[in-house]
Amino acid sequence: MNTEIKKKILHKIKEYDRIMLFRHIRIDGDCVGATKGLKAIIKESWPSKEVYIIDDEHSDFLAFAGEDDAPMPDEAYSGALAIVLDTATSDRISNPKFKLCREIIKVDHHIPVDSYGEIEWVEEERCSCSEMIADLYLSFKDELKMSNEAATYLYMGIVTDSGRFKYRGVNGDTLRCAGALLDHDIDTEKLYAHLYLEKYENLKFRSAIYDKMLITEAGVAYIYIDREMRNKFGITVDEAAACVNLLDSIIGCLCWIAFIETEQEDGAVRVRLRSRFVSINTVAEGYHGGGHACASGATVYSRDEAQALIADADKAVREYKATHEGWL
Ligand code: AMP
Repeated sequence: MNTEIKKKILHKIKEYDRIMLFRHIRIDGDCVGATKGLKAIIKESWPSKEVYIIDDEHSDFLAFAGEDDAPMPDEAYSGALAIVLDTATSDRISNPKFKLCREIIKVDHHIPVDSYGEIEWVEEERCSCSEMIADLYLSFKDELKMSNEAATYLYMGIVTDSGRFKYRGVNGDTLRCAGALLDHDIDTEKLYAHLYLEKYENLKFRSAIYDKMLITEAGVAYIYIDREMRNKFGITVDEAAACVNLLDSIIGCLCWIAFIETEQEDGAVRVRLRSRFVSINTVAEGYHGGGHACASGATVYSRDEAQALIADADKAVREYKATHEGWL
């Protein structure tokens, strides 16, 4: 699929000596895996090319994946090719210097909202951007070289964005790409330990989440985590954000939402929305957000705004239940 676009991207990678890779704010396993994986593939295939990932975002959860590259002066960007991975809108690109590059390529698996690249390869049905990079490799296996390091990064992206191969978007292509990566030497035991082992305090925190969670009449489960609660358990915003998945298995709750108060001075509360069957990206779009039909993010700035978002989600679930059968 999209063979011509992929050929154009390969051609551009070959043409440029310096390539800058970009990703989205609030880094996650997929955008980190896709950028680091692509960098490792390019370096393995053409060792003399310069490839940089310059990003000052940090995540404790992903620290094991290693540091990115040191900042560079603006001139370093000007003659370079930019490849932006896993980012639907240009305002979510973490390093705004992508604009200084000579040409921009977008590679993404989100619903397309904003067009910002000279070449755009967007496949909404892919459940991760890392899968797309694995697919790029498989499409040009005679020219691209996959190292164990690259395979590990891409596998990390696929595993995290597919919820360990559980989410709706997982299909034969996902498993074929993951399978091709596993043909390399990936230490899955170590990778899963980094991704999924938890601190004792986190389990205590989890029990508090179950204690505090609420559900609406139509079937929206939600949890509001304020700073006090995070501090009590010594939990970071990232760790708290991961708790959205704890609400994912309640019979009749087709949508679940976590609100996490951040340390930002503007009072921003991070919102993570998830659902099954019913689309909730339009709800997120009403609150400075967006994303996928069943996994979106947003930001609210007050308890009232949080309540309004919950009411919108409740309405979406109510409408869905009134017009569909077979949901659980
Ligand atoms: P998160 O809950 O942060 O994991 O986000 C779920 C999905 O929604 C991810 O694919 C994000 O890229 C996307 N997303 C999160 N926040 C936003 C936003 N403000 N605008 C557009 N998409 C978003």
